[in-house]
Amino acid sequence: MEKSLIIIKPSGLQRGLAGNVIERFQRKGLQINGIKMMQLDEAILRSHYAHLTDRPFFPLILKSMMASPVIVMVLSGEDAISVIRDMTGATNGRKAAPGTIRGDFSMSGQENIIHASDSAESAVAEIARFFKPDEIFDYKPAHIEYLYADDEITE
Ligand code: ADP
Repeated sequence: MEKSLIIIKPSGLQRGLAGNVIERFQRKGLQINGIKMMQLDEAILRSHYAHLTDRPFFPLILKSMMASPVIVMVLSGEDAISVIRDMTGATNGRKAAPGTIRGDFSMSGQENIIHASDSAESAVAEIARFFKPDEIFDYKPAHIEYLYADDEITE
C-alpha cells in the first residue's frame, strides 16, 4: 500500500470543507493513518515548497498557508498517491475538472483547498516532514476484502 501526505489548507478549513474532503477520501476507500492540526511556519513552508521559493508569488503562498491552522493527514491505499492527485484536480481551481476537490470547491490557483503529494519520493519526504513515526498508525482495514481483490493488495 502506498502512503500520501495531504494538507487541508486554510482555504479548506476556514470554508468549512474539512469534513467533506475527509469524507470523500474515506468513501473512496482510502485509509487514514495519521491526522492532526498544525499551525505552519515559514521554515516548514520553505522546505515543503522548496521548488517555488524563487517564484514571485511565494510570499502569497506563505501568507495563505499561515493564515490559520491546517489539518495534515497521512492516507494509504493501493496507488494512493495518483488516486488522491486525480481526486484533487489541477492546481488552479478554475481549471480543475468538476468532480475533483479543487474543481468543485475552488476558484483560485492559490486558495485551492488541499495539498497532496505528487510522487512516491515526495510522499516519503513530506510524511517525515509533518509526522513523527509514532503519530502514524498502521492497522488492518475492517472491510479490505470489499475494497480490493486478493491479487491487488501489496504490502
Ligand atoms: P500542486 O499544489 O497542484 O501540487 P504546485 O506544487 O505547482 O501545485 O504548487 C504548490 C502550490 O503553490 C499550489 O497548490 C498553490 O497553492 C501555489 N501556486 C502554484 N502556482 C501558483 C501561481 N501561479 N499563483 C499562485 N499560487 C500558486
